[in-house]
Amino acid sequence: MLNGKTAVITGASRGIGAAIARKLAECGANIAVIYNGNKEKAIAIVAEAETKGVKAMAYQCNVANFEECSAAIKKITEDFGKFEILINNAGINKDMLMLQMKEADFDDVLDINLKGAFNMIKHSYRQFMKQRYGKIVNITSVAGIMGNAGQTNYAASKAGMIGLTKSVAKELAGRNVCCNAIAPGFVETDMTEAFLNRPEITDTIPLKRMGRPEEIASLAAFLADNVSDYITGEVIRIDGGLAM
Ligand code: NAP
Repeated sequence: MLNGKTAVITGASRGIGAAIARKLAECGANIAVIYNGNKEKAIAIVAEAETKGVKAMAYQCNVANFEECSAAIKKITEDFGKFEILINNAGINKDMLMLQMKEADFDDVLDINLKGAFNMIKHSYRQFMKQRYGKIVNITSVAGIMGNAGQTNYAASKAGMIGLTKSVAKELAGRNVCCNAIAPGFVETDMTEAFLNRPEITDTIPLKRMGRPEEIASLAAFLADNVSDYITGEVIRIDGGLAM
């Protein structure tokens, strides 16, 4: 369903981003896999995508760095001609109570999670405007909707991403560019390793289990596809009912 389209996915070396890259390739999209430190894992995702008959390439880029994002978008545009889908998924957490949180812990999380999405959209903006088509999907979190003790930095970055999503959606709607956000709850990845097999966590989730990266990927594929053309500025929770 995404045949002939190209997708740029940040944080695609592991976890949710890797699952999104796999899913979009499975749907026929060419993929630009952006990683920060895990080159080998990114290259493995590229190799896997190529077996599905699509073009795939890996790019190192720290999304917190404005110039690196500019260079990555430029290179991707040269390599693929253009791209229609941008998935802002790269993210980190540095959880602790505000009492212990250092200024750098706040800045690092905001710089990667929120400014990273700004940087990538900023450098793709003209292209999306010119081609009068685009699908931007930002991976936020239920923490950005509900707040969470121990996550003042993370929740602020994810709430900011929701504001960013709705504002970009309003700015670019006239150019037929949709911008939506996905707000996962607990998903089984490296980020939530500490929460695995902890009944006190799953007991708080109405569906009584954590989500799988593939489940987030299916929703991202839906938002990247033409079938969702009339959805923009939306934040879709995918959390087993956690934030209901
Ligand atoms: P993960 O397994 O820890 O993977 C994080 C990914 O982000 C990796 O590919 C990593 O690249 C990349 N990354 C980190 N810092 C980066 C930087 N400065 N520049 C570029 N890439 C960077 O995390 P995940 O659980 O899949 O999370 C993916 C997204 O979903 C995040 O935005 C997270 O906040 C959000 N989310 C996750 C959950 C959850 O329960 N897991 C819930 C809600 C929202 P390298 O591998 O190269 O380091």
